Parts: sequence; C-alpha cells; structure tokens
Amino acid sequence: MISVLSATSGAAVLGAAALSGRWLLHQREELGRPRPFPRISVALLAVLGIALAVPVVRRHHEEDRLSRVASRLVGHRVKVHCQSLGQALTDVGSELGYVKYGEDGVPEQQTTIKRDPCGELRKYYGGNRHRPTTDEIIAVHVLTHESMHMRGLVQEDMAECAAVQRDEETAEMLGATPGEAAMLARLYWGTVYPDMPEGYTTPDCRPGGALDEHLVTSPWVRA
Ligand SMILES: [Zn+2]
Repeated sequence: MISVLSATSGAAVLGAAALSGRWLLHQREELGRPRPFPRISVALLAVLGIALAVPVVRRHHEEDRLSRVASRLVGHRVKVHCQSLGQALTDVGSELGYVKYGEDGVPEQQTTIKRDPCGELRKYYGGNRHRPTTDEIIAVHVLTHESMHMRGLVQEDMAECAAVQRDEETAEMLGATPGEAAMLARLYWGTVYPDMPEGYTTPDCRPGGALDEHLVTSPWVRA
C-alpha cells in the first residue's frame, strides 16, 4: 500500500511536471495566441502528489527514529520497519512484532513492528509519557523485545527477560524523563510480564535469578 502510495504520489508530481513542461514548449496555439498555463490541472496534481507523500514521509521518519533506538539497544545498526496499512490489512498474525531468522538460525538485523504498536509508540514519544496506557507500555516493550532478538537472543523467555531489564533505557531514548522511564519499566514488569503466555516467562527472571544481569535499569532495582 505504501509503495502504491509512493508510486501514485510520484506519478502525480511527474504529471504536474509534464504538463508544465508541455506548456513551456508550446506556449502559443497554432494561430499564435498565447496558450494559458494549465494551472488548475498542475495545482491539483501537485496537491495530490504532496498529500499522498505525507504518510510515506511520516512513516520513514518514525522508522528512522525507532531504528536509532533499536540500534543502541542491539549495539550495532539495525532497521525497524513499521507495518504499512496495506500490510496490516492482509495480516492475520496476532504477534505485535517479529524478527525473521535466516536458514542458519541467525536473526536478521531488522524487525517489523505491527501497525498498531507503531502507532502506540508514536503516541508515547509524541508526549504521552507521564501516564502511559497499557498499549503504549506494551509497544515500548515490543521495541525492546525485538531488539533483544536482533541481539541474538533466540529464546522467547530469554529475550523477554533481557527486555524487561532494558525497557527503562528504551523509554528514555524515546524521550521519557528518568522517572517516567523507570515507571514504564516497573509497570510492564509488575502488570504485563506476570500474565505473559508460557514460554515467555521463566522463574530465572527475577532479582538474583540466573537471568538477572544486575543492570541499574532493572525494574526490580527500585521496586
Ligand atoms: Zn519474541
């Protein structure tokens, strides 16, 4: 859908340019009278081209921002894709994001985050950080979780536990104050993590447990 949008936008702008160009080459009619500039057609095509380009540009801008955050979490450059409207319409999966694995089992250095959580992330870094909704908290965590997969943690419970210990860092990179970021991490750990399906949680993920990385950003440090 976005590629259709980009193509249509490009076609509209090209159309406006072509009409203008044709007018420049044929400014007079056969009898020598000046030919009026097709300003309505050109203006309509230009407005259409720009209007169609807005969501494309906005999504690229969001993806760049999220990619910078994920790259810091992973430790090298990775790419975050936000699912487009067209992809969302044909999507039947229930997961909020995913990282594909190559045939060798090595995670790709890119992730796709579904359209809804990408929208929630936008709301979060757009300013709703002092009272985040559950959907926003989960969306921030999805970004951390998928980054942990790209970091090489294949197992869900391990990626999940590494992520809960870094959600505070993610929230801060999305513009939260230290207090807001710590609150988000604690809310995920306290209210979402305990209800995660089997396979995502492990008793080793606790203060002093085998998966405790003793990070200052762990949600249990100040709990
Ligand atoms: Zn996962």
